[in-house]
Amino acid sequence: MATDTTITKNVLGVYQPGSAYMVGDGFPVRNLFPSNDLDRAVDPFLMLDYAGPQYFPPTDHPRGVGEHPHRGFETVTIVYEGVLAHRDSTGSGGVIGPGDVQWMTAASGIVHEEFHEKAFATKGGTLHAIQLWVNLPRASKMSAPGYQTILNADIPAVDLDGRGTLRVIAGSYLGQKGPARTFSTIQLYDIQLKAGGCAVVTVPEGDNSSIFVLQGRASANGSREAGEAELIVCERNGSQITIDAQSDSRLLVMSGTPIDEPIARYGPFVMNTREELVQAAQDYQAGKMGHLS
Ligand code: MN
Repeated sequence: MATDTTITKNVLGVYQPGSAYMVGDGFPVRNLFPSNDLDRAVDPFLMLDYAGPQYFPPTDHPRGVGEHPHRGFETVTIVYEGVLAHRDSTGSGGVIGPGDVQWMTAASGIVHEEFHEKAFATKGGTLHAIQLWVNLPRASKMSAPGYQTILNADIPAVDLDGRGTLRVIAGSYLGQKGPARTFSTIQLYDIQLKAGGCAVVTVPEGDNSSIFVLQGRASANGSREAGEAELIVCERNGSQITIDAQSDSRLLVMSGTPIDEPIARYGPFVMNTREELVQAAQDYQAGKMGHLS
């Protein structure tokens, strides 16, 4: 009997965002997790905030989030519309616009600020972005912090039979490799599909995979149709996901090998134990995560 090693992933469910709230004064977000109690099903991902799309009128005072710390994980910011500016305690900084991605490794500790870029704020415009938190395994939580600016031009785009495009931010797809350097196996794809279009994604067996619908309507492996700001979450077993777009859609596929370690969270810190969270707060207070110059 022939064996087919490609097993279709079952869908755990389709989840809706929590109610909207403001992060700082610049990021009107809806949260998909941890608010849906999906820790085990989305591991190694920790948090998904969907910002906008929302129009901001012109201002002389750029909106955003002032100086704050992180430890124990990575923050990934994907911009669809608008322009964001970042500065951190390692001396890194950057401006990211539509199609660009910022991959910040907080690891042992970083202090940063996130604002609407000055010229964008002055002119006014629509902000549309995602912030995704990626956990680090225990062995890497105290690694040196780092920062990658990944520009639109550096992200390979794969044509999907003339019915769409798949941009490889991290991992690989049909031989195209994403530019993000990651600590564990991660596939992160920005997908646009026309109505009737289809994307077939194969991930390592046992990885946690989910599909976030930013715009349009799409289903995966026979799930119900998910609409704007809904998240399709797959079960761990299996390796293949077939995504069908019922209307013109923009999607984010997130897949990764589960870390399967205890998660202790407190605000901007995500560690393995409560004691490590206390230590993180003390180290921040003592200035050990650095300062913005
Ligand atoms: Mn932050």
